[in-house]
Amino acid sequence: MRAPITVRDIKVITTQPAGSRLVIVKVITSEPGLYGLGCATFTQRPYPVIAAIEKHIRPFMLGRDVARIEETWQMAMVHGYWRNGPVLNNAISGVDMALWDIKGKQAGMPVYQLFGGKCREAASVYTHADGRDPQEIEDAVRKFMTEGYRYVRVQMGGYGGRGSQALRPDGAPEGAYYDPRSYMRATLRMLERVRSGVGEDVELLHDIHERLSPSDAVQFAKEVEPIKLFFLEDALAPEDIRWCARIREQCATPLAMGELFNNPHEWQPLITDRLIDFVRMHVSQMGGLTPARHVAAFANMFGVRTAWHGPGDVSPIGHAANLHLDLWAPNFGIQEWCRFPALIYEMFPGMPEVRNGYMYANDGPGLGIDIDEKLAAQFPLVDEVEWWTQTRLPDGSPARP
Ligand code: MG
Repeated sequence: MRAPITVRDIKVITTQPAGSRLVIVKVITSEPGLYGLGCATFTQRPYPVIAAIEKHIRPFMLGRDVARIEETWQMAMVHGYWRNGPVLNNAISGVDMALWDIKGKQAGMPVYQLFGGKCREAASVYTHADGRDPQEIEDAVRKFMTEGYRYVRVQMGGYGGRGSQALRPDGAPEGAYYDPRSYMRATLRMLERVRSGVGEDVELLHDIHERLSPSDAVQFAKEVEPIKLFFLEDALAPEDIRWCARIREQCATPLAMGELFNNPHEWQPLITDRLIDFVRMHVSQMGGLTPARHVAAFANMFGVRTAWHGPGDVSPIGHAANLHLDLWAPNFGIQEWCRFPALIYEMFPGMPEVRNGYMYANDGPGLGIDIDEKLAAQFPLVDEVEWWTQTRLPDGSPARP
């Protein structure tokens, strides 16, 4: 029997070429020239993830057989005894995706082939239209339609209509203020206006970003039902998932949820009770391709589709990983896409290509994507205190971002 190929080293690559702080893991093997890349991006808290990889995951992984992806993931998840937190899940994801990348390179096949092959040639994507008023949003949707997009997420003034000039008590602290009730009324009017303007040939999506109280979320989901959204995202916070049943009793608005999930206990009942229509975990945040594959197969048994989280704080490696799941999964629903600038394509050769609202893989082996480390090093992480997540309600009290 041939000696196994093992992990020789693990390197963390950080870069910030376009706003988000990206953390990427490179697993270097005992086979000269053979390495894999994975996404470990938790953009708000990159340093604990880097420490978890360098101080804990790297020593745990050195000398391990790169072929044993499932066994490695299962052991990595329990090895710290306490598990399923955003830091460790991301650290484990970096290695997990890299091992899939390596296995694909060994086989000379794209990762979707290892999953079972393509169910589709490309993944339909949705992109984001934002604006200050309904007219700006309608114009943005029309522009995307001319570019071939058939799915567009529409938001007005950022999540929760941020920046509202609601009256505040004297002495209220600085922050990203919003008024949930006025956001709710303004967004309903905006959605009605955009739908009547653009017609039904384009699918519209909206993200509440868990900005409403549970009972307001029930009311809002019911009020937007006639607009026939493709889905309503994060109507509720993970803390409030037991309210999903109330929304289901009231309306047929399709629900998508999951980017904040850490632990399987959060998504299992929503899937088995058919309380959501789309799972949209952030694949690195849940621990990588291995658990995402498990969830996709599990959700498929209950008629729940996938819509993996795909904003700018998923690294290009993470976007490539999303795409391999999308091409394979029988229950693929839609893929979120953030339209990266040209620099990202230069820094990450092999980036998935989006044409006419479809995302295509390049058919290279593994994840099919690489990183120009010299170029990445020219964009070091910028340390700053995040502002948009210091969210406040009109009375000045802290709120969920
Ligand atoms: Mg979201």
